[in-house]
Amino acid sequence: MSHEIRTPMNAILGFSDILLYDQANKEEFLNYLGMIRKSGESLLNLINDIIDISKIESGQIKLKPETFDLHTLLDNVALVAQTLIKSKKKEITLVVKKELPQKELIINADPFRVEQVLYNLLNNAIKFTASGTVELSYVIAQPEMLIFKVKDSGRGIAPQDHTIIFERFRQAPNGSNDNSGGTGLGLAISRSLVHLMGGKISVESDINQGATFTFQIPFKTEAAASIESFVQKNNA
Ligand code: ADP
Repeated sequence: MSHEIRTPMNAILGFSDILLYDQANKEEFLNYLGMIRKSGESLLNLINDIIDISKIESGQIKLKPETFDLHTLLDNVALVAQTLIKSKKKEITLVVKKELPQKELIINADPFRVEQVLYNLLNNAIKFTASGTVELSYVIAQPEMLIFKVKDSGRGIAPQDHTIIFERFRQAPNGSNDNSGGTGLGLAISRSLVHLMGGKISVESDINQGATFTFQIPFKTEAAASIESFVQKNNA
């Protein structure tokens, strides 16, 4: 972890020193300022991730289940992902697939934590896909079990790395040394949150074959009966 903190910290101090003590023309000035801002951002991300993981591990995060519309949540998450794709100037098509056709799907779960896991997975899918597609979908497996999938057509992960990527501060080696700028904590946090929600998370992938992350969580709905009949009809 010390490396993840030192690198952006050194960049902030080093570039500030240049701005304070050296002559920089306008272009250099803006360039160095941009580096300082970027390093500040990654430090803040890291701090947030470390706070999250320590809270989860010390049992301080309690779920706050509430009744909400899953379809609106998915639309909002997709909107943020779309903005991220645009800001990264990537040629990625985002596809959202909702199993149930109705406008709203009212369920009871912890929306904030479901959203956090989906953001983490989508963020990675976009980060590790140069161009292609990213697909966000859900299905209802049993009347009260939701299965989410985030699938991308990106660089993929070798089978021998499927376990370590869920560990803290671990990243899959990718041949070249281009650091993706991540903290290696996103999947560890996602896995802990999914476990906290009573579910599980897994990955299917291979090098250059894209990656599909799947997690399932139990949920409650007043419309369980109608969902059950929907699922049965579909499976018939
Ligand atoms: P971070 O993305 O911050 O490095 P994560 O814990 O979210 O940390 O992911 C750990 C590692 O798993 C990543 O560094 C990357 O090597 C690999 N990884 C995660 N998601 C994907 C993906 N969709 N495609 C390819 N590799 C991935």
